[in-house]
Amino acid sequence: VTSPLIDELTDAFRCLPGVGPKSAERMVMYLLERDRDGGLRLAERLASVMADVGHCRVCRDFTEAEVCGICANPARDRSLICVVESPANVLAIEQTGAYRGLYFVLMGHLSPIDGIGPDDLGVDQLVARAADDEVREVLLAVNPTVEGEATAHYITESMKALSVRLSRLAQGIPLGGDLEYVDGGTLLQAIVGRRQVSS
Ligand SMILES: [Zn+2]
Repeated sequence: VTSPLIDELTDAFRCLPGVGPKSAERMVMYLLERDRDGGLRLAERLASVMADVGHCRVCRDFTEAEVCGICANPARDRSLICVVESPANVLAIEQTGAYRGLYFVLMGHLSPIDGIGPDDLGVDQLVARAADDEVREVLLAVNPTVEGEATAHYITESMKALSVRLSRLAQGIPLGGDLEYVDGGTLLQAIVGRRQVSS
């Protein structure tokens, strides 16, 4: 095939994670040969999402509105803010159906190597929100990685002067897991974070 247009589209598909030249070519050929309508729909949806989806003014999650559906929902518990690294984390927590509070999405974690500092994560904005009288607890639900820990530590230090309660996700043994196969770090966290079951 000699078509600069096809070459350009193949190159464009490679902005997707995990898509190399071969799979990009397969996707382009598939759309051209079998689903031009689907291709056009994809192009339209991509264009409008890229143009219109921004960040919620309150929690920084993705939304095309000024304030997202969760922040705008009067039924949510406004005394609790759950801090997560990404919009995907919000989805995961929402899918449990067990959380009724609000969120704050950092859109990443502290990473000096990549030049990502507290300003990029909106830490000042989070601290300002947590300072509101109606907020009683901030749950730091960052990922259990070195960067996540560093981020949680920084946020904890930034909120020292506030009277708000800070909490972390419990860490430990996966459901249905066997202690024998749990890594040492996870087992240690589970022991450190043990809870009382009777007095
Ligand atoms: Zn929001």
